[in-house]
Amino acid sequence: MFETPRSEALYQRACKVIPGGVNSPVRAFKSVGRSPLFIKKANGSKLWDEDGHSYIDYVGSWGPMILGHAHGPIIEAVKKAATDGTSYGAATKLEIEMAEQIIKMVPSVEMVRMVNSGTEATMSAIRLARAFTSREKIVKFAGCYHGHADSFLIKAGSGALTLGVPDSPGVTSSVAAGTLTAQFNHAESVQQLMESHQGQIAAVIVEPVVGNMGCIPPKGGFLNALRDLCNKHGAVLIFDEVMTGFRVSPGGAQELYGIKPDLTTFGKIIGGGLPVGAYGGRNDIMSMVAPLGPMYQAGTLSGNPLAMAAGLVALKTLQERPEIYETLERLSARLENGLNGIIQRNRLPLRQNRVGSMFTLFFTGELVEDYDSAIKADKERFTLYFNAMLQRGIYLAPSQFEAAFMSVAHTEDDIDQTLNSAESSLRLAFDK
Ligand SMILES: *Cc1c(COP(=O)(O)O)cnc(C)c1O
Repeated sequence: MFETPRSEALYQRACKVIPGGVNSPVRAFKSVGRSPLFIKKANGSKLWDEDGHSYIDYVGSWGPMILGHAHGPIIEAVKKAATDGTSYGAATKLEIEMAEQIIKMVPSVEMVRMVNSGTEATMSAIRLARAFTSREKIVKFAGCYHGHADSFLIKAGSGALTLGVPDSPGVTSSVAAGTLTAQFNHAESVQQLMESHQGQIAAVIVEPVVGNMGCIPPKGGFLNALRDLCNKHGAVLIFDEVMTGFRVSPGGAQELYGIKPDLTTFGKIIGGGLPVGAYGGRNDIMSMVAPLGPMYQAGTLSGNPLAMAAGLVALKTLQERPEIYETLERLSARLENGLNGIIQRNRLPLRQNRVGSMFTLFFTGELVEDYDSAIKADKERFTLYFNAMLQRGIYLAPSQFEAAFMSVAHTEDDIDQTLNSAESSLRLAFDK
């Protein structure tokens, strides 16, 4: 086992005062059989742990770091904003600029409200959909993760799936009864729910490209079918683009696939690494949000000037430099092609899914296109691979059920080093 004594000591200390030693379960490395790394600093494509090891990072803080860590202009913007005070709890010009920037980039968004996390964005969006439709039930997909609000911890993905608690205790049965579960890439499962709950479904919420059971792209026609079903049954279609927003294209998955949701939720990239979320969409729906309308939602630190400053630099950079997406595609394709070569040379039962700069290597020989196929992955072999990669200086998400992310700060050398490490790690995982 790869030794990290300083991280280990910090972990022991953390466990006495923080549940499980971490402030978010996926950081614990529990499912890959080791204690977590404590990170000291990051720059570009690299992370450094407290023991002084460096890693090529494919977690990217779980998605936000599309421009790389400690991106100069973002750091400058945060410093400058901090000099003028860290929070006022009052309206600022920066918030208008942020809203205008999002509306400019994302086709379906006409009005937007800033919040502090992706979780806040999705829980506000379903409250809004319920208020708008005067209906109570929502439909989500097995294995999709929409943050940790009660309504979403039903067949949830990400850490909940990794740790085997897709249905968390503490969620009341009455709340759970309000969430219906469908199968991703199977529109007929949504149709059945719509028909058996006529006039009761307020919203369908979906990760348009799933990241939280590993990367799973939508099959052709699936998102269109959701759009049609929501139109037909008067339900609000919510794209949870907390992960895909500004990542799979400047306008997110809705631009990539040409589908207009009614509401969209954001997080991650939108904050440039600071804690931010947002929800937005159609004018008539957003007009229900207080103080314009009766649906109450608030936040002491919402629209925080440091977060707005960081996020604005991130979004403007992505909008003004479309070649960034070409670079991300080139680097991601280089990694994908290299891995495919390794898979074929060594005849390994592995599958890759990728949409632009988000991707997953699944430890199964079969297609992965929904929850049932994702959970067939061989977690023991993944664990062997993960630990071998970590030892070789490659930092992957400590779970089979997560997407990996490329940043523009990654280099071809990084990719080639990753491929070298992957070949030896995979041979080790498969005893070849
Ligand atoms: C990360 C994520 C969330 C939750 O965002 P937090 O900022 O962690 O609360 C919600 N939805 C999706 C699709 C995500 O990837």
